[in-house]
Amino acid sequence: MAGSDAPDRDKVLIDRDGLQGLIDALIDDGYQVIGPRIADGAVVLEPVAGVDDLPAGWRDEQDGGRYRLVGGGGDAVFEFGPGPQAWKRYLYPPTERLWRARRRGKGFAIEDEAMETPRYAFLGVRACDVHAMAIHDEVFDGGRGTDPGYLARRRAAFVVAVNCTRAGGTCFCVSMGAGPKVDGGFDLALTELTERDRHAFLVEAGSERGAQVLARLDRRDAGDGDVSAAEALVARTAETMGREMVADVAALLGRNLEHPRWNKVAERCLTCGNCTMVCPTCFCSTVEDVTDLTGDTAERWRKWDSCFTVEFSYIHGGSIRREGAARYRQWMTHKLSTWHEQFGSSGCVGCGRCITWCPVGIDITEEARAIHDSEGGE
Ligand code: SF4
Ligand code: SF4
Repeated sequence: MAGSDAPDRDKVLIDRDGLQGLIDALIDDGYQVIGPRIADGAVVLEPVAGVDDLPAGWRDEQDGGRYRLVGGGGDAVFEFGPGPQAWKRYLYPPTERLWRARRRGKGFAIEDEAMETPRYAFLGVRACDVHAMAIHDEVFDGGRGTDPGYLARRRAAFVVAVNCTRAGGTCFCVSMGAGPKVDGGFDLALTELTERDRHAFLVEAGSERGAQVLARLDRRDAGDGDVSAAEALVARTAETMGREMVADVAALLGRNLEHPRWNKVAERCLTCGNCTMVCPTCFCSTVEDVTDLTGDTAERWRKWDSCFTVEFSYIHGGSIRREGAARYRQWMTHKLSTWHEQFGSSGCVGCGRCITWCPVGIDITEEARAIHDSEGGE
């Protein structure tokens, strides 16, 4: 029978130097490592060269329309929740040129777009965001047309996931079945252990290339005690979610398309689109054509757009969603209800970003609960 320190051969322990070794190994393999850093008072996703770049000791406080970083919390480098940026900013950039054409005689010739695929290693991807990437895989390669740029970047990307050991105030991944423990879709998964004054990372490989990188690091086999400590931290995170989505929300919204709550929320909603910009699964875009002053070259650019703009629903002579209520309803019912019919899953992973970064603190879980309660739900 295994004692408390019996090795778990599927999982190993690395320390802070081992984490630096992981970053070095990924850089040696030609990846650009993108991870959490602090900028402008928030945790953002930027290139990192080492552990010193990570937000050691920083935690976040999140609530509706509120985000604050609090420092001085010890050695932990992953003890914060999702920040205002999602990984889509790298896999599905805010602006992307689709093609360029040059004048040739009396016509134009479309130039082949040279596709340089960056090799990203994403360090610190939370379970909700791993699920969001899988949702985008379905959107961009699910048989309805393929986005070659997204796919090339996605296939090249190395994912180092991190199990959450502290729930954020606006998190509700548990009720969306998307966290806080990663359940696939990673090359390596870390759980940060900081109890009893130690600082270590329990690591498991989720792919062959992940195992190959792991084999190059200074490590030791994890014991049962390490594994159960990690499980306890993740279990505590699951029990302390800041928010909860009501059950059966897809059907609930589907039968309440004319509910008075849509007008109520529209009294507060600024239709600013912040919620769609920070959401890891929102993918609406528009295209803009531009020419240079000579008229010799023309380019088509794709840019992130939002269902909260009037122009987004402009169809031959007019916008079909003129009122804020219609735009909020479109966003929320798409995320939580019609996404199932379109892509086979919810479009929400419970990351809470839309709640935190809504300037007036509109809370998608609260809006769903209001409709739920109006039906006399428990
Ligand atoms: S709708 Fe809100 S909570 Fe859900 S995935 Fe998007 S930003 Fe996160
Ligand atoms: S719900 Fe909030 S973030 Fe979204 S458009 Fe309305 S005011 Fe902006």
